[in-house]
Amino acid sequence: MNVHVESVSPVRKKNSVKASQRSAFGADVFDLRLITSALPQKTIDLWMEGIEGRKRMDVNEVELIAEALKNWAIAKGATHYTHWFQPLTGAVAEKHDSFLSWKSLGSPIKQLRGKELMQGEPDASSFPSGGLRSTPEARGYTVWDTTSAPFIWSGADGVTLCIPALFFSWSGEALDHKIPLLRSEQKMEEAVLRLLSLVGHKAKKVFSTLGAEQEYFLIDREIWVQRPDLQLTGRTLFGAKCPKGQELEEHYFSSIDDRVLSFMVDVEERAIRLGIPVKTRHNEVAPAQHEVAPLFEKSPLAVDHNLLLMELMRSCAAKHHLACLFHEKPFEGINGSGKHNNWSLGTDTGLNVLNPEKNSLVFLTTLAAILRAVHLHAALLRSSVASAGNDHRLGGSEAPPTILSVYLGQSLEKLVSDIAHDRIHSDEVPRYIDLGLSHIAPFQADLSDRNRTSFFAFTGNKFEFRAVGSSASCAWPITTIQAIVTESLQLIVDEMELEVAGVKDLELQLKKGLPLLRKHFKEALPVLFGGNGYSTDWEKEAENRGLPNIRKSCQAFEVLLDKRSIHAFEGILTQRELEARYEVSIERYAKTVQIEINLMLELFRTQILPAALTCQEKWARSINALTAAGIKPGVRTLDALESLSAHINEAIGAIDEVERVTKQTQDLGFVAKAKVFSDLVSPKMEEARRVVDKLEMQVEHALWPLPTYREILYSVW
Ligand code: ADP
Ligand code: MG
Repeated sequence: MNVHVESVSPVRKKNSVKASQRSAFGADVFDLRLITSALPQKTIDLWMEGIEGRKRMDVNEVELIAEALKNWAIAKGATHYTHWFQPLTGAVAEKHDSFLSWKSLGSPIKQLRGKELMQGEPDASSFPSGGLRSTPEARGYTVWDTTSAPFIWSGADGVTLCIPALFFSWSGEALDHKIPLLRSEQKMEEAVLRLLSLVGHKAKKVFSTLGAEQEYFLIDREIWVQRPDLQLTGRTLFGAKCPKGQELEEHYFSSIDDRVLSFMVDVEERAIRLGIPVKTRHNEVAPAQHEVAPLFEKSPLAVDHNLLLMELMRSCAAKHHLACLFHEKPFEGINGSGKHNNWSLGTDTGLNVLNPEKNSLVFLTTLAAILRAVHLHAALLRSSVASAGNDHRLGGSEAPPTILSVYLGQSLEKLVSDIAHDRIHSDEVPRYIDLGLSHIAPFQADLSDRNRTSFFAFTGNKFEFRAVGSSASCAWPITTIQAIVTESLQLIVDEMELEVAGVKDLELQLKKGLPLLRKHFKEALPVLFGGNGYSTDWEKEAENRGLPNIRKSCQAFEVLLDKRSIHAFEGILTQRELEARYEVSIERYAKTVQIEINLMLELFRTQILPAALTCQEKWARSINALTAAGIKPGVRTLDALESLSAHINEAIGAIDEVERVTKQTQDLGFVAKAKVFSDLVSPKMEEARRVVDKLEMQVEHALWPLPTYREILYSVW
């Protein structure tokens, strides 16, 4: 097909944003500092305690805050407010109400009542609930999550005050991703505080920290609208390999194209105003692929900010006549996109619990809990990143495999192994790299190299969970990590208390604690792996070690129903809530694949096949014309037509097969349907795609109805 892309992008002129106009950090966030003058001290104290999650705010007490919030929002141009929450759709939800109210009937005023700030009542029946709510049972509530500050969202001509909120059912079950995350924070805090108090550390608060590196593709919007598959499913259902992919390894960290940079700057400016601490931007490995990474924050806020950032990127992309793709695998044959979740534990005293250079017993105990947790719940952790989209990425090029292992780096792995085997450990001697240049001093190398193939890697003072998909909310994987780690930590701290309670001397504590940790390290050793996670040898080795390798998401979801998982989630999600999440996940998976099937059949039959037949007819006419002119068509010319015709026939057959197998699922429930989709339909879809992609290489380009990979991937470059 011929795509005519004029340069419609409003590329920002160099230096068009004067330094004085640059956005102030958090200018669109309702911050305590903004209201100190407008509110009495008692209210400010209350608000502070709410922000820190220390106190419950009572509806009657928040009238003044609501009034100050409304005045601030109106001054910023807001006309509406909304509770902004995270239902199990994976996206964010909002329902706007204007500030308009009757003072007395017929005389309007602008108002935000304390009750409206604190509580909302969206219809819960149209959100996924996994059977927790049936259609007639509609009542659901949102309640302001006071740990997350309200903010202003401007889109098109509308300015809205967004109030971050939690979403739950009339019967009290969590219907969002935020409630379990906050519960997991509380549960983990309790366990870590117990550990810290053992060593005499005075922290009062413990929280997790998260830095989510967001990968994405950016393509021209005109091309995007001509690819219904990208629009509706987020990924290309067809598309022959591009003659040039990522093999020259030249896109990674390459200089950023003007048009892309213009988009990035726009996103960053708005992000900074929203208090999202964006820090890093760079081109990624695949053509048209990029990454943005923020500074880390407390996890619940980082989760909100990541979702907000994705919204922002979508909307800024449209403004720049671009489309931002968050699907895990939009294009075959090149890298997919992930969202590395960098996770650690911090305290109000400034301690990073996962910093090995701080308190050794605290670090080693937490590490033992993490290794035990991942070893015991490898399958559950795998299930926390399961989705139809991520299935196309996990195990693919540059993505983590589906086997769960932990990479600690050579020196830490050696320490763990020495403890496990009761060997004397000596720290590694620092190593220096000398480049042999007189003006460059020798450089101290890190103690270990990086391992890009690991699912869950220790990176100095935090773990990096790399299997999370680019479109996913970080809330669920982080909740899962915290659920399983806390379970192990509780157990180890119980044991540790018996050993070291009352012992004041830190060295003696360590001496008494080590034998206990030895047992846990030893048991968890099989989960440690520092080699190449992409190799087939590792698959065999992992099997010998008894590590699960759950290739398909469909099987991974089931782990949520295991007794062991239910135990790990105690205090975070009830069995009923977990079962609901299982149902939501499996239903979502089945519906996603169903949409892909529908579109695959439609695209082939109404666009691709007609184009291929037109091409075939054109060739046949050309051959006839030759004959009419008295020229005998060459054998190869006839062969080419025959081959085209055979491929068309093969493609029709392959697509019919997809339809035939899908039809068998018509009367099945979601669980059975998902299984058939995963086991039988997906391979048929892959086969159909392979055949159609072959056809794409034969049909005249001008006739092919969809922009090709070349046109898509190089549409902005
Ligand atoms: P990489 O080399 O893995 O691409 P980046 O510098 O792009 O690393 O991203 C690292 C991420 O880890 C950043 O978002 C950073 O803020 C985050 N990070 C750093 N320290 C911590 C921590 N203690 N807890 C959580 N995240 C952290
Ligand atoms: Mg990274």
